[in-house]
Amino acid sequence: MIVILFTGGTIAMRSDPGGTGAAPSLTSKEILQATRGINAVTGVETEEWGSYPGPHITVERMWALRARIQQHLGRPEVVGVVVTHGTDTLEESAYLVARSVSADKPIVFTGAMRTMSDLGWDGPANLLEAVHVAASEATRGFGSMVVMTGQIFSALEATKTNTHLLDAFESPGLGPLGVLDEGELILSREIPQYPPLLQPAELATPVDIIFMAAGSDSRLLDASREKARGVVIAAMGRGNVPPDVVPGIERWIADGKPVVLTSRTQGGRVGHTYGYEGGGRRLEDLGVIFGGSRRAQQARIDLMLGLGAGLDVDELRKMFNES
Ligand code: ASP
Repeated sequence: MIVILFTGGTIAMRSDPGGTGAAPSLTSKEILQATRGINAVTGVETEEWGSYPGPHITVERMWALRARIQQHLGRPEVVGVVVTHGTDTLEESAYLVARSVSADKPIVFTGAMRTMSDLGWDGPANLLEAVHVAASEATRGFGSMVVMTGQIFSALEATKTNTHLLDAFESPGLGPLGVLDEGELILSREIPQYPPLLQPAELATPVDIIFMAAGSDSRLLDASREKARGVVIAAMGRGNVPPDVVPGIERWIADGKPVVLTSRTQGGRVGHTYGYEGGGRRLEDLGVIFGGSRRAQQARIDLMLGLGAGLDVDELRKMFNES
């Protein structure tokens, strides 16, 4: 039996003409009624866990959702869990689960890009395909996945790359693990190697992301430093920042708080190629932690997990290097 946790998102939205815009309002029953054929795949149990648009999923809610997923996975009669989720933050919840839940049973996140009121509501097809993937023997051991528009992605890799197209998710540079063809799974890639899991009792918050642009300075880093436990920099290119950002980074490091470097580009690792003021090599010398090829939002989750587990800056650096 598959458990479907409904959390909200466009898959649960209506947007009536002349109304005030799309917002979650559908019940799980209404969504399931539209999802023809689900009972022919497997038995399902549903839970209305929440009715949140993606941007209303907080870190605390994400953590609570993870706990609920774990509870269901622990039930012997449950073979997998499907989570319907707002696509705006879907990749973050799916990544958090991938990094912190140990399970042989599949966990499949899905959503929709169009509401029930739109022509071509993609919710039911995505949900049906997510259930196919969660119920399949072939995906045991795959951990957390994202299934949208007939494509199966690893949650370690998937990201939303389009604001409105149905085909909004990708694993940039890597491609999906496979596709669905009339309910049949055609798998074409191995799952990525899973880094060691991080399973703290709680997530450390707040952890901020600061995005670099031409001429950025230290103001946002300084403001963040007052409350945040750690910061992730979405740097330029190979992992470089404008010179006026450097004093802000130095103040974080003097406080003994972790600064993790990622790139605002969509592919490749950050590295210590450049030795000019603000270049990655100089930042490394200052004590900045390299985030590898993680996107900033992934590095933030890893940092919240690592700090939550009580890791110090050197242990965090080791964790970011190893995975
Ligand atoms: N803005 C919506 C949300 O994340 C988009 C979606 O669900 O696809 O809730």
